[in-house]
Amino acid sequence: MAGLRPSFDVAIIGAGIGGLALAIGLLRQGVSFTLYEAAPCFSSVGAGVGLGPNAIRAMELIQPGFHELYKRISSGNITPGKDHVMMDAMLVEDGLGERRGMRPMPYGAPCYDRTSAHRKDLLDILTSWIPGKNVRFNKRVKRLSQNEKGAVIEFEDGNIVAASCVIGSDGIKGASRGAVLGDRWPEYVQARYTGKYVYRSIIPMEEAMKILGKDVDGNEIAGDAKMFMGDRCIIATFPISKGTQSNMVCFRPDDQPWSHPEWTRAVSKHTMMQDIRKLGVDERLVTLLNWANPLQWALFHHIITPTYYNHRICLLGDSAHAMLPHQAAGAGQCIEDALVLCRLLGLVKDPSQIEKAFEVYDGIRRPRAQKVVKTSQEAGDLCAFQVPGVGSDMDKIVANQAERYLWIWLHNLEEDVDRAESEFNALSEEARSAAQPTLVGIKTASAALVA
Ligand SMILES: Cc1cc2nc3c(=O)[nH]c(=O)nc-3n(C[C@H](O)[C@H](O)[C@H](O)COP(=O)(O)OP(=O)(O)OC[C@H]3O[C@@H](n4cnc5c(N)ncnc54)[C@H](O)[C@@H]3O)c2cc1C
Repeated sequence: MAGLRPSFDVAIIGAGIGGLALAIGLLRQGVSFTLYEAAPCFSSVGAGVGLGPNAIRAMELIQPGFHELYKRISSGNITPGKDHVMMDAMLVEDGLGERRGMRPMPYGAPCYDRTSAHRKDLLDILTSWIPGKNVRFNKRVKRLSQNEKGAVIEFEDGNIVAASCVIGSDGIKGASRGAVLGDRWPEYVQARYTGKYVYRSIIPMEEAMKILGKDVDGNEIAGDAKMFMGDRCIIATFPISKGTQSNMVCFRPDDQPWSHPEWTRAVSKHTMMQDIRKLGVDERLVTLLNWANPLQWALFHHIITPTYYNHRICLLGDSAHAMLPHQAAGAGQCIEDALVLCRLLGLVKDPSQIEKAFEVYDGIRRPRAQKVVKTSQEAGDLCAFQVPGVGSDMDKIVANQAERYLWIWLHNLEEDVDRAESEFNALSEEARSAAQPTLVGIKTASAALVA
């Protein structure tokens, strides 16, 4: 770990996966930081989260040793020989497709290891690396502004602090996105409703197995990750918590604009069950909702983000590129952001270089992350039979699924880091040369003075 540089300090807003990954990275780079979180403690809410190989590699590059710890808390498929299967495709309809003689259709890749974890377990690993003295809880940001020295943060408790820069990792609804885009692109500040909401459920694995039963090959349906597909309806189930629980995400299409003031809407259990039942879903899947909190979670995304920074304020994670979860790639993109940004901030020698670091970060991370946002929407359309020319053709859907993740998973992160470092050094060199008059320039200036 390098020595701390007190003259340059970073304020990180939000202690989700993105903010935590960045904090760990800055710690290792010896960059001074404070992490401000609105909640009274590190969050324990949330359900299952799966990390792809890119996400695991990015986190391992930020903090060596992560992968070993992640293995201890994550779960794969239970059936032997299915380590590299991301999901088995089945149908949501009555009979799950088996009445038509369909077998589960696996897709994945040799580079991919099937893993999902309970979000709390993942956050526990990340927070274990962050010293308490760097974290302030109960600090909800109300407003961000900038002056010639850096950024100024105003909290809802009335407190005001200054920092050399702010990294807004405050999620899809945070305050930082407005501070970055508000002046120039106000139309892109608010996230857009994707026309779907989800119900989420965590079921004891024993119960999930009893309810779903075995497939035609004799394997437990709940034991391996499943993507049940149907006309405008998708349900995913996968093991978490070392295979002791099954995580379920039930996507419900919605033609209306989201009108509720909150992004979650409590409904009765009966309404929830009927809401899914009327889509023609196999009753076994409806039964799994018995363990769900009857809450509709509206899904929003940032399909367009014209820039990730504005002077000394920079976006990271969902505040920059919130996406639909159909490629299970959102957290991975947060961690990739954190990897590139922590390495760049580690190169900054004085605060005047911060904006250059952000410029390089934006150039490397934004095209890739925004492409993941766009393709996540397409993946949702694909599994919900909404892609023209593909429709409900399961062979085509599964072939597409087998190909579509490779560019995300196999991305060369070391190359991103190298590119970030060389672009930053080149920009800094340019700035130094521009600031120093050349010998010829000095001679000309002296001659002019003499004359
Ligand atoms: C149903 C579903 C399933 C998903 N599954 C996967 C998956 O399998 N794999 C995957 O990679 N991704 C998945 N994702 C996406 C992933 O969860 C997110 O991309 C990721 O958690 C975002 O992390 P973040 O740190 O950017 O934001 P968040 O997790 O939203 O954290 C933001 C933090 O900022 C704090 N905050 C907010 N506002 C303020 C404020 N004004 N002041 C101070 N603090 C503030 C919040 O309290 C919070 O702690 C899924 C998403 C959903 C909805």
